[in-house]
Amino acid sequence: MTLSSLFVTFLGTTTLLLSDGETRLLTDGFFTRPALMQVLLGRVAPSPDRIAQALHRAGIDRLTAVLVGHSHYDHALDCGEVCRQTGAVLAGSASTLNIGRGAGVPEARLCLAEAGRTFSWGAFQVTFLKWRHSFPRFYPGEIRAPLVPPAPVSAYREGGTFALFLEHPAGNLLILESAGMVPGALQGRRARVVFVAIAGFPRTPAGRERLFREVVLNTAAERVVPIHHDHFFLPLGNPPVLLPGSRVTMEWLEQRCRQEGVDFTVLPPWECVSLG
Ligand SMILES: [Zn+2]
Repeated sequence: MTLSSLFVTFLGTTTLLLSDGETRLLTDGFFTRPALMQVLLGRVAPSPDRIAQALHRAGIDRLTAVLVGHSHYDHALDCGEVCRQTGAVLAGSASTLNIGRGAGVPEARLCLAEAGRTFSWGAFQVTFLKWRHSFPRFYPGEIRAPLVPPAPVSAYREGGTFALFLEHPAGNLLILESAGMVPGALQGRRARVVFVAIAGFPRTPAGRERLFREVVLNTAAERVVPIHHDHFFLPLGNPPVLLPGSRVTMEWLEQRCRQEGVDFTVLPPWECVSLG
């Protein structure tokens, strides 16, 4: 089996559909993308219609698991509703599982992730690694009870942050939904493709270089794919509108990758791409 047996579809922010033709995994599943004024002034809730439309457009008729790296609303708002609509299990922190409970996901489909814990789904082995949220750390703390929307964005507390390490016979993937860092957390992990959050990427040259070495060079990555670069207060277009600052960060990352002979690939939204 080669890496071309793995396929990925970028669906905005940190939402990725990963498939080997048998097992389908989705990270986060954030599709509602409430408008900025809604986020600032009001309460947010998953839109079942927008979620259903997005799942349909992405060709997701069945799904094995939804994997959530942390519980901020721009990652986890829709995770429970996605599980409800697809029958997938939900894997994430205790806070993330409370979002699932608030959406009515049955206990039997909730998988508590802890640092270092590995789950097997089909040929995928998914390990949740201890990671740190990028600066600034909005809404720290835990979601301690089932979160029933609508709720203010401040209710979507971080709940700790994980890096997602996916091992597969066709190649390993590392998904960093937030650009913080825990030095040494990736020790011994090899990933052919690393997905890196652009929002919250360090601004200083030294900080950028430190993160690059930790997540790209130390993992012997062959390819870097940016995520969390699109403007998530707007609908997801193709090409997407970028968050302020994303372009400069992506240009730095692309140039740094080129110096090291690492591929840098920007995925077009909604298109299923082979990771060959
Ligand atoms: Zn966050």
